[in-house]
Formats: sequence, structure tokens, C-alpha cells
Amino acid sequence: PVPSPRHTPVVDTETIPPLAQVVGADECVPCSTGETVRYANLDYAASAPALAAVAQTVTNSLSQYASVHRGAGHLSQVTTARYEQAREVIRDFVRARADDAVVFTRGTTDAINLAAHATRGDVVVLDIEHHANLLPWCAPARDGSSRVRVVGACATIDDTLAALEAELAAAPAALLAVTAASNVTGEVLPIGRLASIAHRNGARILIDAAQLVAHRRVSMVGHGIDYLVFSGHKLYAPFGAGVLIGRQDWLDAAEPYLAGGGASASVSFGDTGTDTAIAWHAGPARHEAGSPNVLGAVAIAAACEALDAVGFEHIGLHEELLRARLDDGLATIDGVTELRIFEDSTDRVGIAGFDVDGHTPREVAVFLSERAGIGVRDGKFCAHPLLNRLGYPDGAVRASFGLGTGSGDIDRLVGALATLTTRAR
Ligand code: PLP
Repeated sequence: PVPSPRHTPVVDTETIPPLAQVVGADECVPCSTGETVRYANLDYAASAPALAAVAQTVTNSLSQYASVHRGAGHLSQVTTARYEQAREVIRDFVRARADDAVVFTRGTTDAINLAAHATRGDVVVLDIEHHANLLPWCAPARDGSSRVRVVGACATIDDTLAALEAELAAAPAALLAVTAASNVTGEVLPIGRLASIAHRNGARILIDAAQLVAHRRVSMVGHGIDYLVFSGHKLYAPFGAGVLIGRQDWLDAAEPYLAGGGASASVSFGDTGTDTAIAWHAGPARHEAGSPNVLGAVAIAAACEALDAVGFEHIGLHEELLRARLDDGLATIDGVTELRIFEDSTDRVGIAGFDVDGHTPREVAVFLSERAGIGVRDGKFCAHPLLNRLGYPDGAVRASFGLGTGSGDIDRLVGALATLTTRAR
């Protein structure tokens, strides 16, 4: 693993308050010390708590709620308008093209499975991906002539981009599918440069923005992204909804992802009942059969509006301050090593993967929870190839934060880790 650089502290003892109100911020938990403490949620990369503004919108929507799409009644029209309006809010938020399809899915995993279903031809991926952006491309259901070609990340981002370029130049590929930010280290990849590499080699690009979209402005037009996927529950909205946004031609050429009502424009059976004639819709409806998750869509749109109201310049600064505080703190503790993929990455979102010498990741996570009321994640984070490659086949610990995090949460984590490592000596 690449040793983490020592930072010049940006903030020393100054208090950094949370940037926005999230639900559950006052949750208290008993600790093994006998104290009851406020729960410090440092597991935002798994699922971020809903913003209070999002929760309010969902509650309001629940009180004015009826069938969607086919109803002529007033509330059906309100619900349908909210669902369709959510697509437009999300389209604006990610600066999508006017003719991009915004398809609601169950989340990022579901969105990439849909993309895999609609993609014909080879797909190139990096070996640092979350399984959600690896396994759908390997699925046996994919057209037997389409291969997934895995490129190993190099020690630097520049060399990794060169390796991708060489792979795409060596043989045609339909798609380059890459994460925008690592769910293990938080390192941000240069989306615009990746898109240029794909395009100049005749491929399209899909960006897995599950870990970026809550932290940085993503512009599909600006970065040249053909397909973008992300989940609501990492964007301060509840579980169960996500999106695939992108070029409509491949989506319209594919068989519906799910067959059923809503995806079909007309259905008839001949006299014998065997000659079925089905006409499928084009556009998002083609892949959204069944009654949709209206509240999930509305919640994602509310999260987009709330993040825009806070402003990405403030979000970026808040994270940078907390990140520096965390990196500085971790660097003071003997035996703690932060995981890094690249020597030259300069931008990281609020995710720190780390190892604590002499303790299994599970021991660390349980200690932090039971002793200090801190929630982190341990394991291999659905990125087994990456953890194996970095030399952590038994996994690591991951602390991740966002808008509801203040410096007190970070200080508590650092303090608890210092207690754990000192106690062990
Ligand atoms: N991609 C990345 C980078 C992720 O971090 C995750 C979840 O951790 C996913 C995809 C899968 O997201 P979901 O579980 O919401 O489908």
C-alpha cells in the first residue's frame, strides 16, 4: 500500500460543525464505559443518513399520494407530475443532455445490471471497482460474444489512464465502465480524461458515481459522460431507488429489462392464444415495468435540490477540512495505515480505508462501536480484487463522512483508535 502523505493541519483545534441537518443525528447509544453517548455515524459511504429536508419532502408526498401514470384523478395527476418532475430535477442536477433517458432503478447495482443488459460488445473495467461494476459485466446472461476486459490499476493515475488507453486501442470495445471515486479509499478519478480516452478509441463511457455524486458536482455534458449511475441512499435519500441516466439509443434497442405493465404500449393474443403481439414503449418506461418507486424518485430529486441549496463549494470545503483533520489524526497513531491506490491522487471524498496493526478489522469496528458509540464499516467493501491487490486479503476498516459530520465525530474516532492501540501495547 502507498503510505498516506502527512498533511499540514488545515485546522488544529477549531470546531467544524455539521454542514446540514440529517435525521438520526441525536441518536444516543450506551457504551461499555457505562456512558451513553451520541452515536457517531461514520458509515456514510455505505448509506448516508437522509437529510432533514429530504425526509420532510417524503413526508409531505406521503400525505398527497395516489396511483401513478394511469389515473385521471387529481391526486393521481399530482403523483404522476411529481414522479416525472423528479426526472427533470435529476437531469438538471447532473447536467445531462436534453435527450438523455433518466431511468429509475432500485439503485446503482440495478442500474449497472440494466446497462449490462443493454450493452452489446466488450466492456473494459478497472480492477479497483466495486463488485456492482464488475459482476454485471461478467453475468452469464450477457451476449456470449461480449467480453469483460479487466485492466489492473497502476501505481499512478497517469499510468492507469495509459493502460486503459492501450487496452482500448488494442481491440475495439463498446464501453469503458469506471468508478468516479473509490468506495475503499475515496480517491477521485479524472472523469473527463477517462471519457476522452473512451471516445477517441470508439467506446462509450459509463461512470459509477455512487461515491461521487453527493460530494462533487458531476456534469455529464461537461465531463462527456455517456451513462451515469448512482443510488439514492448514498445521496442522503432513503434506500430502494437509483438512476441510470444516458443515451437513449442502446436502451431503446434492448429488450425491456423487466417485462410487464407500464413497459408495454399494446398487447394482444391471436385466436389460438399463441401468437402474441407486444409493442414495447421507448424511453424510460421501457425499462420501468411495474408500479414505480415514486417516493424513492421524489426523495432523490429532493436530495439533489437540497445539495444544490447547500452548494458544492461549501460541501467540498467542509469535506476537505474534515479529511485533513482525519488524516492528521490517523497519522499520529502508531500502527494505523491508510489505504491508497494511487501515489498521485490529489482529490479524495470523505472516505478513509485503513488498517490497524495487530487487530482484525472486525475487532476494530466492534471496539469502536461498543466502547465509543462510533459506527464504521469493516471487511472487503464488495471490492475483493482491490483489497487483495492492496495486500489486505482479510479486509480493512473504513470511516466515511458527509454533511452531517462535524469535527467532534472525527476527534472521537481518532481518540478511540488511540485508546485501542495504546491499550494493546
Ligand atoms: N458502486 C460503488 C462505488 C459503491 O460504493 C456501491 C455501494 O457501496 C455500489 C456501486 C452499489 O450501490 P447499491 O448497493 O446502492 O446498488
